[in-house]
Amino acid sequence: MTSFDPYILRKEFPYFAHESAVWLDNAANTQKPQAVLDRVLLSLARASTVHRAVYALAEEATLVYEEARSILARFISAPSKDEVIFTNGTTGAINLFARSLYLSGKRAGRQGFRIVTSVLEHHSNYLPWRMLADEPGVEIIIIGHDGLGIDMEALAKALSAPCDLVALSLCSNVSGAWLDSQQAAKLARAAGAVLFLDAAQAVLHRAICLDDSVALPAGGIRVAADALAFSGHKMYGPDGTGALWVRGDLLQDLVPVTFGGEMVRSVDDSAIDLQPPPRRFEAGTPNCSAILGFAEAARWLLQSPRDEFRAHEEGLGRMLHDELSALPGARLYSVPGPLISFTLDGWHTHDLALFLDREGLCLRAGRLCAEPFMRALGVPALVRASLAAYTTREDCMRLVRALTLAKAAIPGRACLARFARDSASMH
Ligand code: PMP
Repeated sequence: MTSFDPYILRKEFPYFAHESAVWLDNAANTQKPQAVLDRVLLSLARASTVHRAVYALAEEATLVYEEARSILARFISAPSKDEVIFTNGTTGAINLFARSLYLSGKRAGRQGFRIVTSVLEHHSNYLPWRMLADEPGVEIIIIGHDGLGIDMEALAKALSAPCDLVALSLCSNVSGAWLDSQQAAKLARAAGAVLFLDAAQAVLHRAICLDDSVALPAGGIRVAADALAFSGHKMYGPDGTGALWVRGDLLQDLVPVTFGGEMVRSVDDSAIDLQPPPRRFEAGTPNCSAILGFAEAARWLLQSPRDEFRAHEEGLGRMLHDELSALPGARLYSVPGPLISFTLDGWHTHDLALFLDREGLCLRAGRLCAEPFMRALGVPALVRASLAAYTTREDCMRLVRALTLAKAAIPGRACLARFARDSASMH
């Protein structure tokens, strides 16, 4: 039994003091604790610039910015802070990594580039690789699913031949299934491939530990990877923040794909001398206030009882999973846990999400940016409830009660009309 009380935690989140809507879209975005809001505001109220100027305010801002990098490194137990690149989210991180890895190989004279990814991936970990496959010599293999997770046998088969890159999600944003990263890393290594993990859905629920020599934090999970990406807004941080971690020796070989201010030591007509990583990957003025808020969210999580958060999220998720499984007409497409994807017979998912909205609940509906997985599962769209540490039993029971109501109702005309207007933007 845990003494964890989500109502006490909620006091740290202004959302719950000002809004009544039940927030169950944490897989898309989380609410922010006051500490994060304060950090962003403080930074905006003392605007400065980093890595660029000599005045004291800029010196201080640079120190604080690099300290933020150290906190993010600690958050995932990365061996060095200089292996962490700030991005605008998981999407930005994967696009940077994909282009950069491909270009580096090409410059090193590599012939061909073989990528293995899966049908489960979010578009952010699918399209960048798919786009690369348009380049000459690039081959992409998309492995299938085994129920709600990755087909590990198919992965092993695909990796029985040499490969350059394996790109997989650590936790699915559709099914909530976790990858066995240790097994994936073993297979990738045997094939000579780099293993990249999309950890966007992982960081909220588990403390990621990349370094085997570090003691595993409470509620943590050892993760094997050569590179990994995640988003700040999915872990109580500001919107449009994220990080790309790349193993040191691999990072040294990567070439930048964005060029501009403060990423070169010197440049003239004939030569460009790049800054060392990670700065060579952060051209232009960074979004300092948001990045500091991102680091504050990481610090806040590092100081939180994450094992209790995890037990609470898992317990509530399983309870909700059981309740929905018992609801006639509900079909579930997720493993028991804090992310529940489902349909309700007789309801279009968008209509159902609008119905739930009128009942005061915020849930995502649509293809969840994972259209290939939807096709593979044989569903056009899903409704998704995703939980966080501040989610309460009452939130979950309100969803169950609303779905019981929905089951008894027929989608009304007003609802359908609103759906017709909104559906184009609800992917
Ligand atoms: N990968 C996964 C598994 C996700 O769930 C998401 C966000 N829904 C992303 C990537 C993209 O993250 P972002 O929009 O923060 O860049």
